Amino acid sequence: MIVIMKAGAPKREIEKIAKRLEIMGCIPHKSQGDNYCIIGLVGDTTKVDLGQIEANENVERVLKVQHPFKLANRLFHPEDTVIEVNGVKIGDGNVIVIAGPCSVESEEQLLSIAKSVKAAGASILRGGAFKPRTSPYSFQGLGEEGLKILQKAREETGMPIITEALCPDSFDIVEQYADIIQIGARNMQNYSLLKKAGKSNKPVLLKRGLSATIEELLMAAEYIMVEGNTQVILCERGIRTFETYTRNTLDISAVPAIKELSHLPIIVDPSHAAGRWAMVSPLSMAAVAAGTDGLMIEVHNDPEHALSDGAQSLRPKKFERLMKEIESMISNH
Ligand code: PEP
Ligand code: MN
Repeated sequence: MIVIMKAGAPKREIEKIAKRLEIMGCIPHKSQGDNYCIIGLVGDTTKVDLGQIEANENVERVLKVQHPFKLANRLFHPEDTVIEVNGVKIGDGNVIVIAGPCSVESEEQLLSIAKSVKAAGASILRGGAFKPRTSPYSFQGLGEEGLKILQKAREETGMPIITEALCPDSFDIVEQYADIIQIGARNMQNYSLLKKAGKSNKPVLLKRGLSATIEELLMAAEYIMVEGNTQVILCERGIRTFETYTRNTLDISAVPAIKELSHLPIIVDPSHAAGRWAMVSPLSMAAVAAGTDGLMIEVHNDPEHALSDGAQSLRPKKFERLMKEIESMISNH
């Protein structure tokens, strides 16, 4: 339920109504713009006396929110949420690029990739230290050593770093090093991890689950937001369909759908969607055309010897070409 206040309603009156709603048993969340004020209600709204609230002369209207996600809902927060990480803004209308290897493999590997993606125009460095691998026999990541290498790359390049927290136990250590904490597709509905991320004061990149609907993705974001952390970036990374040619099927329509339903930024990861490096560029273009706030691209200096996801990784030269293509697409728009 949302209470839309009349334009110019005095602050004091807004506070009074919020208090009243709290007494009626729900939790009010105020969203104030230049010309509007909205009070979004979460929790038990069954005891809200609609007539009493609508009778207040400062109330424009009361709306029932049909969707189960509230804090992530655009109705609760009409303006786009912009998340700032060390001076990089995500969701402000520009397309930001996150790039780097699937896994941190060594200091030499990460620093070399970090320098080349920065020179090509990427603004955030990615790299997994704790890896969610389909096979327990595959490389599982360097753990804390990988986090230390990421920290070194941040010191040398000035780029903020994003890395995945795989479970609640290792969350704290990842949080210490990361500028943005990634929650992977396989963990999208790991509720104890989501709750933990909700208590963090660092931004969270939440990837869409392999078989999750858009509503389920937004409900997972809601889990984080209701704990207090509203800095959530959503990521479309391909979903399971009957198609096997690609690793996953990139659901481009998730971008405009999420823009309509939510105020949270949405970025696209074409690398994990395609599973093939040759498709990363066309899918990136499609994502930009659909209105994405950013891209997450896997880049490796030696894909043939990569310890994970070499087949979908761009070499630095190809990444540089992709960045030029994106720039020219945006400037011709
Ligand atoms: C990743 O980005 O490193 C990753 C494992 O992606 P996903 O969770 O989307 O599979
Ligand atoms: Mn990967």
